[in-house]
Amino acid sequence: MANYTVTHACGHTKEHNITGTNVRNEREHKAAWLAELICSDCKDKAKQDKINTTNATLVQLSGSPKQIDWANAIRANAIQHIKKVKEQVDETYAKAEDREQQSRLECALQAIDDLINAPNSKTWIDAKDSFASLLKTYRYLEGKALEIYKNK
Ligand SMILES: [Zn+2]
Repeated sequence: MANYTVTHACGHTKEHNITGTNVRNEREHKAAWLAELICSDCKDKAKQDKINTTNATLVQLSGSPKQIDWANAIRANAIQHIKKVKEQVDETYAKAEDREQQSRLECALQAIDDLINAPNSKTWIDAKDSFASLLKTYRYLEGKALEIYKNK
């Protein structure tokens, strides 16, 4: 067990307990590597700032303060995938060859808008695993679009 005082790239100084072999100065190398990074507080702050910035442009969510914080974090990560899917649907729509295809794609765009504007934290929390990847987001929205299409 060895404590190292590391001055991070952000200027903050933190104590790090660096363990493991030190035959070839591995611990000093690790301390030097840590010094090139911003500290954990700044990393958390940057993450929160990104969440706040993203959510500032979206509808205010309803729910308990805890639910809202959680849903805002989920939404901040999900929104990139959702916008990517929207771009693809927009592109396909522009090239749609018949009214039937257009109609299906309009349902997809409706599903995307409904999700982007979903005002309830619960919607985001319940579907959190559906936004883990672009493909999962696509499949989630495809399912929602199909529901809209069936109920037309
Ligand atoms: Zn810092």
